[in-house]
Amino acid sequence: VPDPSLTEQFLAANRAYADGFTSGLLPVRPGRRLAILTCMDSRYTAQGILGVDLGDAHVIRNAGGRVTEDVLRSLILSAALLDTRHCVVIHHTDCGLFEKTNDGLRARIAEVAGSAPALDFLPFDDVAQSVREDVATLRASEHFPPDYDVIGFVYDVRTGRLEQIEG
Ligand SMILES: [Zn+2]
Repeated sequence: VPDPSLTEQFLAANRAYADGFTSGLLPVRPGRRLAILTCMDSRYTAQGILGVDLGDAHVIRNAGGRVTEDVLRSLILSAALLDTRHCVVIHHTDCGLFEKTNDGLRARIAEVAGSAPALDFLPFDDVAQSVREDVATLRASEHFPPDYDVIGFVYDVRTGRLEQIEG
């Protein structure tokens, strides 16, 4: 059951946000022709760590910042329909998928929720390697324009610094 006080809290915050809102005329096309794929981790924003503003980039976030079928769906649309030409893949230190296994994740999910799906949750043991793999997968796709480029970083949640992996 949703908490009504949570709804009220969001609506109050949104009233303040809308009162100061000045971004209503931004073009739909990302100004820096940029798409960013990164983890859903709550300790950073993609825009913050790259110095990217509203209107500059598409940001796709999921567990780990991994390339999945749905990420390909979004990035291919982003490039073909909204002209993005640069993709940045960012995985990070201390990720919830680091050194996990599908079996371990499924057991934990079943414990909490009663059952677990037979999904590949895309855990990894080496964060630089997972960036290389996802960059390689995107570079290998035939569905991006010829001038599309993909670069990769690892973000350190303790220092705020990026390490270049592919680029
Ligand atoms: Zn993460």
